[in-house]
Amino acid sequence: MVGGWGCPETLVCSTSREVPVEKKWAARRKYPRYVVRTRTEGRITGVDEVVLVDISFGGVKIEHAQFFRPGTVSPLDLEFHGTRIRLSSRVVWSVVARQEMNMDGEGTMVYHTGLEFHNPSEETWQVINEYLQAMIDEGKATPPDDGVIHRAYTCQKCSESYQLADSEVRPVFMDVRKRPVQAGDLFYYEHDTCDGSLECIFGGPRVPWTVEEEES
Ligand SMILES: [Zn+2]
Repeated sequence: MVGGWGCPETLVCSTSREVPVEKKWAARRKYPRYVVRTRTEGRITGVDEVVLVDISFGGVKIEHAQFFRPGTVSPLDLEFHGTRIRLSSRVVWSVVARQEMNMDGEGTMVYHTGLEFHNPSEETWQVINEYLQAMIDEGKATPPDDGVIHRAYTCQKCSESYQLADSEVRPVFMDVRKRPVQAGDLFYYEHDTCDGSLECIFGGPRVPWTVEEEES
């Protein structure tokens, strides 16, 4: 599974320490995940400190010191450079990622937990988008899958749905390159004999089209 929500190679996922994982998560994932390269801390009800591992428009993966029961709904607060966001989230899975030694020489478990955003509103998408853009602009978050961002689109004419990399589509209005992509932005994409344009379903970070393309 390339780029899926599987266990990273560094994790020992098939030991007896593993706790039940909701496998559906991987199949349901439909947004690109951004790997966070800086220590972004947050709080969740009942847990003092969580560290953000990655984030997508569908949810986050966090690292922390205790097991979360799947199904639990809890607000998650994250902070990055003074920007604080509160997201209602639901625990989908929680696994032991590794064991660490504390200062008393005792072994403690470090857990990784997948949280799904719970009923996100349009405003929530916008907040996540801005948060993500700030991290990307500073090089603190990078998209997975070799840097290829896949976005979800629906054709306005034939209603066909697509998940496409930015290299496969062309913006109808070039101003898209100067701001984050918004839901409703239109793109050209050749598909079958349909000449309809694709409407982006969710916003996301800026597209990487170059100045040369604008001049041609
Ligand atoms: Zn179409």
